[in-house]
Amino acid sequence: GDSFPRPVEMPKDKLLGGLFPEGFDVNTCVSRYQSALYRKEQKHQPSPNLVSRLRKYEALHKQCGPFTESYNRTLEYLKSGSHGQDTNSTGCKYVIWIPEAGLGNRMLSLSSAFLYALLTNRVLLVDPGSRVSDLFCEPFPEVSWLLPSNFPLTGKFSSFDQKSPETFGNLLRNRSHANSTSSSLPPYLYLYLVHDYDEFDKCFFCDHDHTILQNIPWLIVKSNIYFAPSLVSIPSFQQDISDLFPNLGTVFHYLGRYLFNPTNFVWGLVTRYYDINLARADEKIGVQIRVLDKDFGRFERVLNQTLGCMLRENLLPEINGTKPVVIQSGKLKTKALLITSLRSWYSEAIKSMYWKRSTVTGEVVEVHQPSHEQYQHTRRRMHNIKAWAEIYLLSLTDKLVTSGGSTFGYIAHSLGGLKPWILYKPEDHVIPNPPCQRGVSMEPCMHAPPYHDCTSKKWTGPGGKLDPHVQHCDDKWWGIKFI
Ligand code: GDP
Repeated sequence: GDSFPRPVEMPKDKLLGGLFPEGFDVNTCVSRYQSALYRKEQKHQPSPNLVSRLRKYEALHKQCGPFTESYNRTLEYLKSGSHGQDTNSTGCKYVIWIPEAGLGNRMLSLSSAFLYALLTNRVLLVDPGSRVSDLFCEPFPEVSWLLPSNFPLTGKFSSFDQKSPETFGNLLRNRSHANSTSSSLPPYLYLYLVHDYDEFDKCFFCDHDHTILQNIPWLIVKSNIYFAPSLVSIPSFQQDISDLFPNLGTVFHYLGRYLFNPTNFVWGLVTRYYDINLARADEKIGVQIRVLDKDFGRFERVLNQTLGCMLRENLLPEINGTKPVVIQSGKLKTKALLITSLRSWYSEAIKSMYWKRSTVTGEVVEVHQPSHEQYQHTRRRMHNIKAWAEIYLLSLTDKLVTSGGSTFGYIAHSLGGLKPWILYKPEDHVIPNPPCQRGVSMEPCMHAPPYHDCTSKKWTGPGGKLDPHVQHCDDKWWGIKFI
């Protein structure tokens, strides 16, 4: 798996404006250095503050990461049951990420957990049960981000849910019932940030309640959402986030590129597919088709919506009636269409359409689809590898059409630095008009913002005033995203 039998070419800005540190062994993760050869030149650069915070984080990770002396000493608090508030002399605190839902959701919550770690000087460790090492290179130099499998709580991870007594929400609930703040704090807490979190879990986003977490050495987070946009609503983080990201519309773009570099095996899949099918085309258009409802007749409807969008937005040329096309100069312009979908039906239909007829512009349209897995199988290794390779390939296109509400699509456009054309989900099986619209930013959408009033602890609903840094999402009106 890890060999890379090709000469490794190096781009000029191989460290992406300082996003990556010096000193990694290139061969262990070729994609980190080669990706720039496959992408257009970067429009933005990471801010100097982000670059220096990443270097600071890497030093902390090296000091506190798995099997270091500090890690071993911080483990002692778990054994003694004390949170070590006054005695935590290691200076190391952790946030452990455990997986939930599909790959796209996982990458969103993992990048949010990393932002949280950067803001709170915690060390990010990932549950090895998530098998992230099948997909991503180790992101930090020298010391792994994988939680050792003998970590004392790993056996509990699969049983952690909203009802677990160890959740932050339940700690707050019990304290509110006991009407006291004096009960002693545990060495670890579990943060339940899944879309159905309740009013106590949501206090994670309240400054006052948040202070309780400051001294807890071990936090374990489970989430299926991109919770980064709600971290800005915590006043003590606001300034720091803006300093790290003067352009908030690039938060996932940079954190994602920093954290999620394909392993050499995945990179082989990406680059071979790209070199064979996409490299020579004059323009590369990505289309991600994700159909979440099961209604009858959806195939034709989804196809009509997709084509309607692409013709209207000039992403694809119209097909020609009977007239021959006279081409002025020699070479035909080619458009490569990269379609990803669990089904092959859509790409077969589009391929056949452009085979039977010529185009009014004389352009040649090629249609490619790397896989058609039929169903989601998040537990299968090769299935996830293909999903990641396809997300990455989509991110290498020039223009991208995605399916509204899909986290798979969010990752592709954010990594690629692309504002997508979003195919809105049909209401009552009717194709929306217009069938798609351009997204306002390249950021992912946070699907379940807390809409929580920190004083009354009540739900406020999505109608209220939004924080100036965020806006409702193009594809989900109750969601929010950085702009
Ligand atoms: P979401 O459900 O669209 O938000 O995206 P997720 O990535 O969280 O979950 C969907 C999962 O279904 C993916 O991770 C893949 O396992 C699978 N899947 C969905 N669409 C595709 C596709 O176009 N190609 C591949 N290979 N897998 C897909």
